[in-house]
Amino acid sequence: MKLIFEKSREGLGCDILPPCDVPAAPLPAYMARKKPARLPSLDENQISRHYSALAKRVFGINDGFYPLGSCTMKYNPKVNEELAGLAGFTDIHPLQPEHTVRGCRKLLDLAAGYLCEITGMDAVNFQPAAGAHGELTGLLLIKASHESRGEGARKQIIVPDSAHGTNPASASMAGYSVVNIPSGPDGCIDLAALKAVAGPGTAGLMLTNPNTLGVFDPNILEITRIVHEAGGLNYYDGANLNAVIGIARPGDMGFDVVHLNLHKTFSTPHGGGGPGSGVVGCKESLAPFLPVSGVVMEGGDTEHSQSIGRVRAFGGNFLVVVRAAAYLLTLGKENLPEVARNAALNANYLMERLRTKLPSAYPGPCMHEFVVSLEKLKAGYGVSALDFAKALQDKGMYPPTIYFPLIVREALMIEPTETESRETLDEAAEAFLSVYDQALADGESLRAAPRTAVICRPDEVKAARQSKVCFRWD
Ligand SMILES: *Cc1c(COP(=O)(O)O)cnc(C)c1O
Repeated sequence: MKLIFEKSREGLGCDILPPCDVPAAPLPAYMARKKPARLPSLDENQISRHYSALAKRVFGINDGFYPLGSCTMKYNPKVNEELAGLAGFTDIHPLQPEHTVRGCRKLLDLAAGYLCEITGMDAVNFQPAAGAHGELTGLLLIKASHESRGEGARKQIIVPDSAHGTNPASASMAGYSVVNIPSGPDGCIDLAALKAVAGPGTAGLMLTNPNTLGVFDPNILEITRIVHEAGGLNYYDGANLNAVIGIARPGDMGFDVVHLNLHKTFSTPHGGGGPGSGVVGCKESLAPFLPVSGVVMEGGDTEHSQSIGRVRAFGGNFLVVVRAAAYLLTLGKENLPEVARNAALNANYLMERLRTKLPSAYPGPCMHEFVVSLEKLKAGYGVSALDFAKALQDKGMYPPTIYFPLIVREALMIEPTETESRETLDEAAEAFLSVYDQALADGESLRAAPRTAVICRPDEVKAARQSKVCFRWD
């Protein structure tokens, strides 16, 4: 398929934007381009076909089973899209007078109240645009809190080796050094290792619970107590709240700060880089440091003088919050725990169905996801996690997450989510088991998979190291 730039022809083009109906505000000269951007010119019909063709090549949650571990690719009820599309929510401007957007304010307050109750926190902030952004924001709260008490010398964030990669990255971005601690054979935190590193240098701990292995740490209260006793604060990575929503609360587990991914758990479609929300919640003691929408004047504005400032324009991605509010209102307090129960039930069902050939890497029941190791398959038959995942694509499903978490060799991380039917789970189990049989019978044949996709095996290393993200006109 040709790129849109290659389809461009001088002289074509179409006027699809309405004429400007507000006074033009010229950019300052230093910001303006020296010469106009060279954009592709196509007629409307060509543009429409170009994007339709692209859309057909995408595999999304509306196309089939998508058990991408740690990503919670679940069905997003369409009614929430309609509600988020209402003119009262979309045709507003952040600088509009407050009294003209009271309904929107009310919705934000409503969502904030629900999310506080769900997480066990005292305040939330909607500015962060995604999970990693929420992590950075939360860590800046921890930092500001320590500094306000003259404890700015605490420079370390403890992160277990099962953590999502964004955790150490965010800690480092917030100016911290990362202290890694190992997991035990049960996949949980090694308490002795935690005690050995927690001390006067500890700013905090970042933890996902249940962790990326789908294991809920039974020592969670002891873990958060050890960190508190050392003078640190506890950060809960709540990107995948599906496992515990409505049942267990980070605030009750001893956490001080949390981020949620509204675009994973709360009904906003994701995966294509669209708008998300990494809403941050915290206990009362950290609330004075939360972001504010405007500029913070040092010493001037006393109400917000301790705020870390703003991390994004205005109130963040508002329509994501509308979907989350609609989702929560639809389920209600009574039904919300069913989300977590069914997410765990579906994951355990699939885990059991695969057990004979593809046993889980950790013992016991799982929460919302589980991890399988293909180490033996690789050693015995030369079939890697990558080969296996590619072969699953030919079965009409999206493959699970591979090579993550890092502590499991040849990992397949499978998260079916609560929105899949038993029939879909059975079909998926058959697909996994038949790829396993194929691996034993003819491992070589898997190396040519996928056969049904547009691209077979891109050179991923080259794509990452020498990425071409910009079209060069000759
Ligand atoms: C997805 C995820 C993140 C990062 O969220 P983004 O919105 O992609 O930045 C962080 N932690 C965990 C456990 C996740 O699953």
